[in-house]
Amino acid sequence: MIESENKASIDPIKYGPNSKFKFECHKGVKCFTRCCRAINIALTPYDIIRLKNRIGLSAEEFLALYTEPQLLEKTDLPVVILKMMDDEEKSCPFVRADGCIIYTDRPSACRYYPLGVATLSHKAGADDDDFYFFVHEPHCLGFNEDKEWTIREWREDQGVDIRDEINMDWTDLMVLKRSFPPSIKLTDQAKQMFFMASYNIEKFRKFVFESSFLERYYIDDKTLEEIRNDEIALLRFGLKWLKGILFKDEKHDIVKMREDAANIRKSSEPSDTPNN
Ligand code: SF4
Ligand code: SF4
Repeated sequence: MIESENKASIDPIKYGPNSKFKFECHKGVKCFTRCCRAINIALTPYDIIRLKNRIGLSAEEFLALYTEPQLLEKTDLPVVILKMMDDEEKSCPFVRADGCIIYTDRPSACRYYPLGVATLSHKAGADDDDFYFFVHEPHCLGFNEDKEWTIREWREDQGVDIRDEINMDWTDLMVLKRSFPPSIKLTDQAKQMFFMASYNIEKFRKFVFESSFLERYYIDDKTLEEIRNDEIALLRFGLKWLKGILFKDEKHDIVKMREDAANIRKSSEPSDTPNN
Protein backbone atom coordinates (compact mmCIF):
# COMPACT_ATOMS: atom_id res chain seq x y z
CA MET A 1 0.00 0.00 0.00
CA ILE A 2 1.48 3.30 -1.04
CA GLU A 3 -0.21 6.59 -0.38
CA SER A 4 1.04 9.99 -1.38
CA GLU A 5 0.41 13.16 0.55
CA ASN A 6 0.05 14.92 -2.81
CA LYS A 7 -3.40 15.20 -4.37
CA ALA A 8 -4.13 11.75 -5.78
CA SER A 9 -7.24 10.47 -7.50
CA ILE A 10 -8.36 6.90 -7.78
CA ASP A 11 -9.41 5.77 -11.23
CA PRO A 12 -12.99 4.42 -10.78
CA ILE A 13 -12.44 1.66 -13.37
CA LYS A 14 -11.88 -1.82 -11.99
CA TYR A 15 -9.19 -3.69 -13.90
CA GLY A 16 -8.72 -7.45 -14.21
CA PRO A 17 -5.52 -9.42 -14.95
CA ASN A 18 -5.96 -9.07 -18.74
CA SER A 19 -6.97 -5.40 -18.79
CA LYS A 20 -4.60 -3.16 -20.75
CA PHE A 21 -3.09 0.18 -19.81
CA LYS A 22 -0.31 2.50 -20.98
CA PHE A 23 2.45 3.46 -18.59
CA GLU A 24 6.21 3.57 -18.34
CA CYS A 25 8.58 4.71 -15.65
CA HIS A 26 12.23 5.29 -16.54
CA LYS A 27 15.10 7.66 -15.86
CA GLY A 28 14.10 9.86 -18.82
CA VAL A 29 10.73 10.96 -17.37
CA LYS A 30 10.75 14.50 -15.97
CA CYS A 31 9.14 13.32 -12.74
CA PHE A 32 11.80 10.67 -12.06
CA THR A 33 11.84 9.86 -8.30
CA ARG A 34 9.08 12.41 -7.53
CA CYS A 35 6.92 9.56 -6.21
CA CYS A 36 9.63 8.57 -3.70
CA ARG A 37 8.85 11.51 -1.42
CA ALA A 38 6.13 12.25 1.13
CA ILE A 39 4.58 8.84 0.79
CA ASN A 40 3.03 6.31 3.09
CA ILE A 41 4.50 2.90 2.27
CA ALA A 42 3.13 0.01 4.32
CA LEU A 43 5.76 -2.72 4.63
CA THR A 44 4.88 -6.40 4.40
CA PRO A 45 6.65 -9.15 6.38
CA TYR A 46 8.62 -10.20 3.29
CA ASP A 47 9.61 -6.56 2.62
CA ILE A 48 11.19 -6.39 6.08
CA ILE A 49 13.24 -9.54 5.50
CA ARG A 50 14.50 -8.32 2.12
CA LEU A 51 15.27 -4.81 3.33
CA LYS A 52 16.99 -5.69 6.60
CA ASN A 53 19.17 -8.28 4.80
CA ARG A 54 19.99 -5.81 2.03
CA ILE A 55 21.16 -3.24 4.55
CA GLY A 56 22.81 -5.78 6.83
CA LEU A 57 20.74 -5.14 9.95
CA SER A 58 18.71 -7.33 12.26
CA ALA A 59 14.94 -6.97 11.95
CA GLU A 60 14.92 -5.26 15.35
CA GLU A 61 17.48 -2.68 14.19
CA PHE A 62 15.72 -2.14 10.87
CA LEU A 63 12.36 -1.64 12.58
CA ALA A 64 13.86 0.90 14.99
CA LEU A 65 15.75 2.89 12.36
CA TYR A 66 13.61 2.74 9.27
CA THR A 67 9.98 2.25 10.25
CA GLU A 68 7.11 3.86 12.09
CA PRO A 69 4.25 1.96 13.72
CA GLN A 70 0.70 2.39 12.52
CA LEU A 71 -2.64 0.76 13.31
CA LEU A 72 -4.20 -0.60 10.16
CA GLU A 73 -7.64 0.88 9.65
CA LYS A 74 -10.57 -1.41 10.45
CA THR A 75 -8.28 -4.19 11.64
CA ASP A 76 -6.74 -2.75 14.82
CA LEU A 77 -3.58 -4.65 13.83
CA PRO A 78 -0.16 -3.03 14.38
CA VAL A 79 1.66 -2.62 11.07
CA VAL A 80 4.72 -0.62 10.06
CA ILE A 81 5.35 1.99 7.39
CA LEU A 82 8.66 3.16 5.96
CA LYS A 83 9.88 6.23 7.86
CA MET A 84 10.54 9.18 5.57
CA MET A 85 13.52 11.47 6.13
CA ASP A 86 13.27 14.73 7.99
CA ASP A 87 14.18 16.85 4.94
CA GLU A 88 11.89 19.40 3.31
CA GLU A 89 10.50 16.92 0.80
CA LYS A 90 10.13 14.07 3.28
CA SER A 91 12.21 11.87 1.00
CA CYS A 92 12.38 8.11 1.20
CA PRO A 93 15.71 7.18 2.86
CA PHE A 94 16.63 5.09 -0.18
CA VAL A 95 16.09 7.62 -2.96
CA ARG A 96 18.99 9.37 -4.69
CA ALA A 97 19.12 11.60 -7.77
CA ASP A 98 19.72 8.60 -10.02
CA GLY A 99 17.04 6.40 -8.47
CA CYS A 100 16.42 3.85 -5.75
CA ILE A 101 19.58 2.46 -4.13
CA ILE A 102 17.83 -0.74 -3.01
CA TYR A 103 15.85 -1.17 -6.24
CA THR A 104 16.06 -4.98 -6.46
CA ASP A 105 14.83 -5.23 -2.87
CA ARG A 106 12.29 -2.38 -2.99
CA PRO A 107 9.02 -2.97 -1.13
CA SER A 108 5.94 -4.47 -2.74
CA ALA A 109 4.11 -1.13 -2.59
CA CYS A 110 6.82 0.51 -4.74
CA ARG A 111 6.55 -2.34 -7.22
CA TYR A 112 2.79 -2.04 -7.53
CA TYR A 113 2.70 1.75 -7.86
CA PRO A 114 0.69 3.29 -9.56
CA LEU A 115 -1.45 0.16 -9.48
CA GLY A 116 -3.54 -0.71 -6.45
CA VAL A 117 -5.06 -4.08 -5.65
CA ALA A 118 -8.27 -4.66 -3.74
CA THR A 119 -8.36 -8.06 -2.10
CA LEU A 120 -11.96 -8.78 -1.29
CA SER A 121 -11.83 -12.35 -0.08
CA HIS A 122 -9.86 -13.87 2.74
CA LYS A 123 -9.82 -17.21 0.93
CA ALA A 124 -6.20 -17.90 0.05
CA GLY A 125 -5.64 -17.80 -3.70
CA ALA A 126 -9.04 -16.29 -4.43
CA ASP A 127 -7.69 -14.39 -7.44
CA ASP A 128 -11.10 -14.05 -9.02
CA ASP A 129 -12.25 -11.82 -6.19
CA ASP A 130 -9.36 -9.36 -6.55
CA PHE A 131 -9.47 -6.34 -8.78
CA TYR A 132 -7.02 -3.59 -9.62
CA PHE A 133 -7.27 0.17 -9.88
CA PHE A 134 -4.94 3.06 -10.72
CA VAL A 135 -3.82 5.88 -8.50
CA HIS A 136 -3.36 9.04 -10.58
CA GLU A 137 -1.15 11.72 -9.13
CA PRO A 138 -0.68 15.00 -10.99
CA HIS A 139 3.12 14.74 -10.84
CA CYS A 140 3.29 11.23 -12.34
CA LEU A 141 3.98 11.54 -16.07
CA GLY A 142 4.35 7.81 -16.68
CA PHE A 143 0.77 7.62 -17.99
CA ASN A 144 1.80 9.79 -20.98
CA GLU A 145 4.22 7.14 -22.20
CA ASP A 146 3.31 4.72 -25.01
CA LYS A 147 4.33 1.38 -23.52
CA GLU A 148 1.30 -0.91 -23.19
CA TRP A 149 0.90 -3.66 -20.63
CA THR A 150 -1.72 -6.01 -19.35
CA ILE A 151 -2.03 -6.02 -15.56
CA ARG A 152 -0.64 -9.56 -15.60
CA GLU A 153 2.46 -8.45 -17.58
CA TRP A 154 3.02 -5.51 -15.23
CA ARG A 155 2.84 -7.77 -12.16
CA GLU A 156 5.32 -10.15 -13.73
CA ASP A 157 7.69 -7.35 -14.72
CA GLN A 158 7.59 -5.88 -11.21
CA GLY A 159 8.08 -9.27 -9.51
CA VAL A 160 5.06 -9.00 -7.25
CA ASP A 161 3.71 -12.53 -7.70
CA ILE A 162 6.29 -14.30 -5.52
CA ARG A 163 5.98 -11.58 -2.89
CA ASP A 164 2.21 -11.81 -2.82
CA GLU A 165 2.48 -15.58 -2.54
CA ILE A 166 4.86 -15.39 0.45
CA ASN A 167 2.71 -12.72 2.12
CA MET A 168 -0.55 -14.51 1.26
CA ASP A 169 -1.37 -15.74 4.76
CA TRP A 170 -0.61 -12.29 6.15
CA THR A 171 -2.90 -10.54 3.64
CA ASP A 172 -5.50 -13.19 4.33
CA LEU A 173 -5.22 -12.49 8.02
CA MET A 174 -5.81 -8.76 7.48
CA VAL A 175 -8.85 -9.34 5.30
CA LEU A 176 -10.22 -11.86 7.76
CA LYS A 177 -9.74 -9.48 10.68
CA ARG A 178 -11.36 -6.66 8.72
CA SER A 179 -14.44 -8.82 8.16
CA PHE A 180 -14.95 -9.22 11.93
CA PRO A 181 -17.30 -6.88 13.80
CA PRO A 182 -15.32 -4.02 15.43
CA SER A 183 -16.53 -5.25 18.83
CA ILE A 184 -14.25 -8.32 18.51
CA LYS A 185 -10.94 -7.06 19.86
CA LEU A 186 -7.58 -8.79 19.98
CA THR A 187 -5.77 -8.85 23.29
CA ASP A 188 -2.51 -6.90 23.65
CA GLN A 189 -0.66 -10.20 23.82
CA ALA A 190 -2.22 -11.36 20.53
CA LYS A 191 -1.17 -8.08 18.89
CA GLN A 192 2.39 -8.53 20.18
CA MET A 193 2.48 -12.04 18.73
CA PHE A 194 1.17 -10.68 15.44
CA PHE A 195 3.89 -8.02 15.36
CA MET A 196 6.69 -10.44 16.26
CA ALA A 197 5.77 -13.19 13.78
CA SER A 198 5.08 -10.64 11.02
CA TYR A 199 8.08 -8.37 11.36
CA ASN A 200 10.75 -9.56 13.73
CA ILE A 201 11.99 -12.83 12.28
CA GLU A 202 15.00 -13.23 14.61
CA LYS A 203 12.85 -12.68 17.69
CA PHE A 204 10.28 -15.15 16.36
CA ARG A 205 13.05 -17.73 15.76
CA LYS A 206 14.17 -17.34 19.37
CA PHE A 207 10.57 -17.67 20.50
CA VAL A 208 10.18 -20.95 18.59
CA PHE A 209 13.54 -22.52 19.49
CA GLU A 210 14.35 -21.05 22.89
CA SER A 211 10.99 -20.94 24.68
CA SER A 212 8.59 -23.75 25.56
CA PHE A 213 7.06 -23.45 22.06
CA LEU A 214 8.31 -26.85 20.89
CA GLU A 215 6.97 -28.48 24.03
CA ARG A 216 3.54 -27.05 23.29
CA TYR A 217 3.34 -27.49 19.51
CA TYR A 218 3.95 -30.54 17.37
CA ILE A 219 6.21 -29.78 14.40
CA ASP A 220 7.48 -32.58 12.18
CA ASP A 221 11.26 -32.97 11.73
CA LYS A 222 11.33 -31.79 8.11
CA THR A 223 9.49 -28.55 8.90
CA LEU A 224 11.66 -28.05 11.96
CA GLU A 225 14.81 -28.34 9.87
CA GLU A 226 13.43 -25.91 7.27
CA ILE A 227 12.35 -23.23 9.71
CA ARG A 228 15.61 -23.47 11.64
CA ASN A 229 17.69 -22.58 8.57
CA ASP A 230 15.47 -20.60 6.27
CA GLU A 231 13.94 -17.22 7.17
CA ILE A 232 11.28 -17.42 4.47
CA ALA A 233 10.20 -20.90 5.60
CA LEU A 234 10.08 -19.56 9.17
CA LEU A 235 8.01 -16.58 8.06
CA ARG A 236 5.53 -18.80 6.19
CA PHE A 237 5.28 -21.06 9.23
CA GLY A 238 4.84 -18.09 11.59
CA LEU A 239 2.00 -16.63 9.54
CA LYS A 240 0.17 -19.96 9.50
CA TRP A 241 0.67 -20.29 13.27
CA LEU A 242 -0.65 -16.75 13.74
CA LYS A 243 -3.86 -17.57 11.90
CA GLY A 244 -4.37 -20.51 14.23
CA ILE A 245 -3.93 -18.51 17.42
CA LEU A 246 -5.79 -15.39 16.28
CA PHE A 247 -8.72 -17.14 14.63
CA LYS A 248 -9.29 -20.24 16.62
CA ASP A 249 -11.09 -22.46 14.17
CA GLU A 250 -10.15 -25.76 12.58
CA LYS A 251 -9.57 -24.32 9.12
CA HIS A 252 -6.79 -22.04 10.32
CA ASP A 253 -5.45 -24.25 13.05
CA ILE A 254 -2.62 -25.77 10.97
CA VAL A 255 0.13 -25.81 13.60
CA LYS A 256 -1.14 -28.33 16.13
CA MET A 257 -0.77 -28.30 19.88
CA ARG A 258 1.06 -31.47 20.98
CA GLU A 259 -2.03 -32.91 22.64
CA ASP A 260 -4.19 -32.38 19.54
CA ALA A 261 -1.49 -33.81 17.28
CA ALA A 262 -1.22 -36.93 19.48
CA ASN A 263 -5.00 -37.42 19.32
CA ILE A 264 -5.02 -37.03 15.55
CA ARG A 265 -2.22 -39.57 15.14
CA LYS A 266 -3.99 -41.98 17.48
CA SER A 267 -7.29 -41.79 15.63
CA SER A 268 -5.59 -42.34 12.25
CA GLU A 269 -3.59 -45.39 13.41
CA PRO A 270 -4.98 -48.81 12.37
CA SER A 271 -6.80 -50.49 15.20
CA ASP A 272 -5.13 -53.58 16.81
CA THR A 273 -8.51 -55.25 17.18
CA PRO A 274 -9.58 -57.28 14.14
CA ASN A 275 -13.00 -56.31 12.73
CA ASN A 276 -14.82 -59.62 12.96
S1 SF4 B 1 12.12 2.24 -1.62
FE1 SF4 B 1 13.01 2.90 -3.54
S2 SF4 B 1 11.28 2.85 -5.00
FE2 SF4 B 1 10.41 2.83 -2.93
S3 SF4 B 1 10.02 4.94 -2.40
FE3 SF4 B 1 12.05 4.46 -1.63
S4 SF4 B 1 13.44 5.04 -3.26
FE4 SF4 B 1 11.41 4.96 -4.15
S1 SF4 C 1 6.63 8.17 -13.85
FE1 SF4 C 1 5.41 8.11 -11.98
S2 SF4 C 1 6.22 6.26 -11.00
FE2 SF4 C 1 7.78 6.90 -12.47
S3 SF4 C 1 9.15 8.29 -11.38
FE3 SF4 C 1 7.57 9.55 -12.31
S4 SF4 C 1 6.10 9.79 -10.65
FE4 SF4 C 1 7.34 8.02 -10.13
